[in-house]
Amino acid sequence: MDTIISTHRGHQSYPFHYLSEKPIFSSLKSEKPASQAHPKQRKKPFYLDGHVRACSALLELVPEIKKENLAFELPKFDPSLKNIVMDLVVVGGGPAGLAVAQLVSEAGLSVCSIDPSPTLVWPNNYGVWVDEFEAMDLLDCLDTTWSGAVVFIDDTNTKFLDRPYGRVNRRQLKSKMMQKCILNGVKFHQAKVYKVVHEDSQSVLFCNDGVTVHAKVVLDATGFSRCLVQYDKLYNPGYQVAYGILAEVEGHPFDVDKMVFMDWRDSHLSGQKELRERNNKIPTFLYAMPFSSNRIFLEETSLVARPGLAMEDIKERMVARFKHLGIRVKSIEEDERCVIPMGGPLPVLPQRVVGIGGTAGMVHPSTGYMVARTLAAAPVVANAIAKYLDSEGGGMGDDLSAKVWKDLWPIERRKQREFFCFGMDILLKLDLVGTRRFFNAFFDLEPRYWHGFLSSRLFLPELLWFGLSLFSHASNSSRLEIMAKGTLPLVNMINNLIKDRE
Ligand SMILES: Cc1cc2nc3c(=O)[nH]c(=O)nc-3n(C[C@H](O)[C@H](O)[C@H](O)COP(=O)(O)OP(=O)(O)OC[C@H]3O[C@@H](n4cnc5c(N)ncnc54)[C@H](O)[C@@H]3O)c2cc1C
Repeated sequence: MDTIISTHRGHQSYPFHYLSEKPIFSSLKSEKPASQAHPKQRKKPFYLDGHVRACSALLELVPEIKKENLAFELPKFDPSLKNIVMDLVVVGGGPAGLAVAQLVSEAGLSVCSIDPSPTLVWPNNYGVWVDEFEAMDLLDCLDTTWSGAVVFIDDTNTKFLDRPYGRVNRRQLKSKMMQKCILNGVKFHQAKVYKVVHEDSQSVLFCNDGVTVHAKVVLDATGFSRCLVQYDKLYNPGYQVAYGILAEVEGHPFDVDKMVFMDWRDSHLSGQKELRERNNKIPTFLYAMPFSSNRIFLEETSLVARPGLAMEDIKERMVARFKHLGIRVKSIEEDERCVIPMGGPLPVLPQRVVGIGGTAGMVHPSTGYMVARTLAAAPVVANAIAKYLDSEGGGMGDDLSAKVWKDLWPIERRKQREFFCFGMDILLKLDLVGTRRFFNAFFDLEPRYWHGFLSSRLFLPELLWFGLSLFSHASNSSRLEIMAKGTLPLVNMINNLIKDRE
């Protein structure tokens, strides 16, 4: 079943698990009564007995979306210059698009960036492993770091991960990229692109304000809206669905020096038969970034499900968890409704429009992470565009795009993604018990394996060693389960690997 949910990006639809009982609250923020008091005026902390009342009380603390803009005077694209053909037009000014715009303009090529809100601070709360940002010299773009992370497998089994984690300072990261873009002469156009028409050596982009922009190369960086990039296979991803709040709380039980990567404990569901059954079938975990003893980002997350979990279901579980953990929310600075399509087919390879980020199948199919991988891939795409546009034999139009796609998705990356999709297919079949067993074995692996898997640094055949190592660390019951549930996905993966040749 499809529903429309409200996200920071506007309205997005995804197939979700239908909750048979009457929804306990609406997921649409716009349905809040206009007369509602400002959250700051509320005195009582949220902590009520019934879940229905508790969910409504939590929602009432959610502020209206704050649209924070960066104070940049943007060099504008001049639509009156009819004969101008830009070397590159980047559609979408998220992390993926801006990173490429910056790098291609640095190489001296003319770039136009089109986005409906070019100065808006990106709305998502991004978390990354610190080493990933360190490798890109982006440590100055983390606003908080934790010396390690913790995974609660269940009430008696906790794993401490000796790997620092960080929260991206999205204002700083975007400002840094914008400054460089402006310095390099990137032109900005505030609009939405709705169509592209290709000629032999150039493409014409049509914007919703009537402006047309001509480009030698078009990059679709529109995230999960996949505005221009074409897919020719059934699009059937799994969905990571999460609801997060950045909140002021009276207190929380977590160590402020460790972020909570996953909390799979379910004692908050004792005595709640129906909710517990739902969680046993499709489990959710808590992801938390404790900034201080009374300020924390808390996100109830369904790792992956097909169809995705309903947002109401997630919030109901979150409320039950807070109550059990004694977390009293005093106010909410911002909330985040997260719907990330995971796995599914890659776009048509190659095709005339090039892509990066969400639009180009780059989200990690087993984890939903992408921002570090995309930023690391931006130089690959940018170098390819600059190199082939500059060189005599670089070609143009379809030829040039084909070369860029090949550099973005070489065979080893496609094989890696196939393995990650296999991982996702197994995760899709695991219930709470199976998921706990899986992560118990996963985080017992040598760090180079689980680091490499999470950060897309392992390739075949190392990934096969990773798989064997995971299997050997698993308990007997877990091995049986992996064999029973993983055989079909394994056969599919092998088939796909055989079919996909250079
Ligand atoms: C709520 C949420 C939280 C996430 N958290 C993490 C995390 O912690 N760590 C992580 O690694 N990944 C995370 N992800 C996954 C992923 O990293 C993000 O989705 C990331 O923002 C994707 O970057 P992007 O540049 O591809 O797309 P986006 O950031 O979505 O940017 C796309 C841009 O294109 C613009 N656009 C869309 N359509 C058009 C059009 N027709 N014309 C012009 N412009 C258009 C949009 O306005 C937007 O500015 C998260 C995703 C979500 C949704």
